[in-house]
Amino acid sequence: NTVRREAIKAVEAYVPPAVSFDESEAPGAIFGENVFSTVVMRQRLPKPIFKSVIATIEHGAKLDPLVADAVASAMKDWALERGATHYAHVFYPLTGLTAEKHDSFFEPNGDGTAIAEFAGKTLIQGEPDASSFPNGGLRNTFEARGYTGWDVTSPAYVLENPNGNTLCIPTVFVSMTGEALDHKTPLLRSQQAMGEHAERILKLFGHAKPAKVVAFCGPEQEYFLVDRHFFVARPDLLNAGRTLFGTKPPKGQEFDDHYFGAIPERVLGFMMDTERELFKLGIPAKTRHNEVAPGQFEIAPMFERGNIAADHQQLLMTTFKTIAKKHGMECLFHEKPFQGVNGSGKHVNFSLGNSELGSLLVPGDTPHENAQFLVFCAAVIRAVHLYAGVLRASVASASNDHRLGANEAPPAIISIFLGDQLADIFDQIAQGPATSSKGKGSMQIGVDTLPVLPTDPGDRNRTSPFAFTGNRFEFRAPGSMQTVNGPMVAINTIMADSLDYCATELEAAVAAGTDFDTAVQALLTAIITEHGAVVFNGDGYGDAWPIEAEKRGLANLRTTLDALPELITDKAIALFEKYRVFNSREMHSRYEIGLEQYALSIGVEARLTLEIGQTSILPAAVRYQTELALNAKALKDAGIEPDLMPLTELSTTIGELRSAIAVLHSALQEEVGHDTLAEAEHARDSLLPAMTAVRAAADTLEASIADDLWPLPTYQEMLYIL
Ligand code: ADP
Ligand code: MG
Repeated sequence: NTVRREAIKAVEAYVPPAVSFDESEAPGAIFGENVFSTVVMRQRLPKPIFKSVIATIEHGAKLDPLVADAVASAMKDWALERGATHYAHVFYPLTGLTAEKHDSFFEPNGDGTAIAEFAGKTLIQGEPDASSFPNGGLRNTFEARGYTGWDVTSPAYVLENPNGNTLCIPTVFVSMTGEALDHKTPLLRSQQAMGEHAERILKLFGHAKPAKVVAFCGPEQEYFLVDRHFFVARPDLLNAGRTLFGTKPPKGQEFDDHYFGAIPERVLGFMMDTERELFKLGIPAKTRHNEVAPGQFEIAPMFERGNIAADHQQLLMTTFKTIAKKHGMECLFHEKPFQGVNGSGKHVNFSLGNSELGSLLVPGDTPHENAQFLVFCAAVIRAVHLYAGVLRASVASASNDHRLGANEAPPAIISIFLGDQLADIFDQIAQGPATSSKGKGSMQIGVDTLPVLPTDPGDRNRTSPFAFTGNRFEFRAPGSMQTVNGPMVAINTIMADSLDYCATELEAAVAAGTDFDTAVQALLTAIITEHGAVVFNGDGYGDAWPIEAEKRGLANLRTTLDALPELITDKAIALFEKYRVFNSREMHSRYEIGLEQYALSIGVEARLTLEIGQTSILPAAVRYQTELALNAKALKDAGIEPDLMPLTELSTTIGELRSAIAVLHSALQEEVGHDTLAEAEHARDSLLPAMTAVRAAADTLEASIADDLWPLPTYQEMLYIL
C-alpha cells in the first residue's frame, strides 16, 4: 500500500467546506473593513493631524514626527476594537517573502494588570534582529541591527486569525547605515525619482503645478491548485514547490479545454473565500479565470499605486496559501510546477499618472496629435532599449529560468510590442511629423440581432515581454513567485532616466528659443531613430526572432547567470546611483543575493532529486524487477520459455538510474569553495544536468513499471482531480 494509494483514497473521501455568504458579507459591505484607510483616519484623527498625514500620502511631504503619537493612538484604539492583541511591522526582506515581528499591545502596569500601549515612536520605527536575513555583504554579523520604518503611503490593516488578530504596519527594512535590506525601500525611492521627472515633462506641456505623479501597477497572478493529499505525498512539491519527477499525462493542455473553462465548484468556493478575505483587506480583486494548463488559474486585482499594489500582492499570496489549505488544496506559485504544461507568470501592468490627469499612457482617439502621450511613450521605448539588461535581471531566478524562452512565456530577449496603430505612428515620426492615426475598426458578426462591435486599433501580442495594451505597458516576464517590487523598481528607475533625458532636452531647446512643437518633434524623431530597434511586433516565439534580434543588437540573456551580471555593470550602477535608488554597495548586494538564492534553490532540488530517486523510485523499480524475474523463473519451471525482453529493458533503465544517481551524488559532494558565483555556476553546470539525467531515467521507469508499485502521485492525478 503506497502513500500514493492512501492519498487517492483520502482525496476521494474529502468533502470541501461549504462557502456561504449572508448579506452582511457582500463585497460592498466588507470592502476595506480591516483597513486603517483615509476614510477611517478622517473620522478618527483631529483635523490638523489628518491633514498632515494626507500631505505625506498625497503630496510626498516629509512625515511630521509630532503627528505620529496621535496617529498611533487612533490606530491602536481602532485595532483593539477589531480584536487585535498584537501589532507587527511587516517588511519584505530579500528572500522574496513577507516577514513580520509581532509585539503585544499590552504592557504590565506594575500592579499586576496590563494596559494597551502604542506610542508614535513604536509606529514609526521598529528594530527586528536582522542577522538572519540575506544582506549580500551589506552587514557584518556583529552588526545585526536592522530597522523597520513605517511606509505612511501604504495603509495599516488588521489581519484576522482564529486565535487573535494583529495590526499590521507596512514598513521598509534598512541597515544601521540606511542601506536597503528589503524590496520596499528601493520601490519607494524609484517611484519618487520617476514622479519628479514626469512632473517636469507635465510642466513643459503647460500643467503649471502638476499633482504628484506616481507609478501604477496591476499585477496578474497565475497559480496552480492541487489537492493537499497529493501535495504532501510529493516531497518535491512540498520542499521545492515543483515536481522533480513525473511523465507527461496522456492528456495535457492540447485540447485548450481548460483556458477560460467553467471553474470547478471546489475551486470557485476557494476563490469566493479568498476574495472575501482580500476585500476585507481592501485588495480590489477583480478578474478570475481558468488558465491554460489543467489545474491552473489566474487572479488580477485592479491596478493601484505601485507600492500599495506590491504590498497587496504579497498579502494576496499569503492569503491564497492559507485559504487553499482550508479547502484541502495547496496553492502553487512556482513558475514551473509541472514539466510539459504551461508555467505561471505574474504580468506586471505598468503605467504612470496622477490624480488630475489619470494614466499618462492613454493615447486618445488620435494619438498622432497627442504629443504629451507620445513623449511618455517614447520615454518607455528609450528606457527599455537602453536598459533591457536591467529589466531582464529584475526577473532572473532559478525557477523563472524554466519559463522564459520556453515558448509559453515571453522570450529572454527584451523587446517592445506597440501594436499596429502606435507602430505606424512611430514609423511616421521616424520620417517627420506624424499626420494620421489608424482608427478603430468595426466588426460585422453576421447575426442580425447583434450590434456591430468596435475593434481596437491594435491586436494583442502574447509573445512580447513588454507590450503596450491600450493604456499601459504589460511586462510579461516576471515570474509567478516573485514580488512585483523588483520589476517595478527596474521600470521606475529606467523611466526616471528617460523622462529626465526628455525633460532636459526639451527644456534646453525651449531655452535656446526653439518652438516647443518643433522641439518635441525633434526629440521623438531622435528617440525612435536611435531606439526603434527594440520595437518588435512579430512572433516572439518564432525561430527567426533570436536571429533578427541579434542583428538588431538586442541581448538574449537566456539564464539567470547570464542576466544577473547586468546589475553590476558600470552603466547600471551609474543609473541607480544617479536616481538614488541604490548605491553601488546595494547593487552588489542584490547581485550576490541573486546568485546565492539561485545556488540555494538548485541545491535543495538536487538533494531532493537524490533522496526521492534513491529512496522511492529505485526501490519501486527494483521490486518490479524482482517480480519480473520471479515470473520468468516460474515460467521456466513450468516449461514455458519466458520473454526476457521486458526484464532486460527494465534492468537497463535501473542501471541508468543508478549511475545518474551516482553522478548527482558526487556532484553534490564536490568542494566548490565559498565563492557565491562559483557555487551558482556549479549548480548550473553540474547539479542541473545531473538532476535532468536522474529524472530522465525515473520518468522512463514511471512509464514502464506496474502502476500499483509506483510511489508518487502522478501528473494525471495531481492535475485532473480537483
Ligand atoms: P489581460 O489578461 O487582458 O491582460 P487582466 O484583466 O487579466 O488583463 O488584467 C489587467 C491588469 O491590468 C489588471 O490588474 C488591471 O487593473 C491592470 N490595469 C488596467 N489599466 C491599468 C493602468 N492604466 N495601469 C496599470 N495597470 C492597469
Ligand atoms: Mg490576464
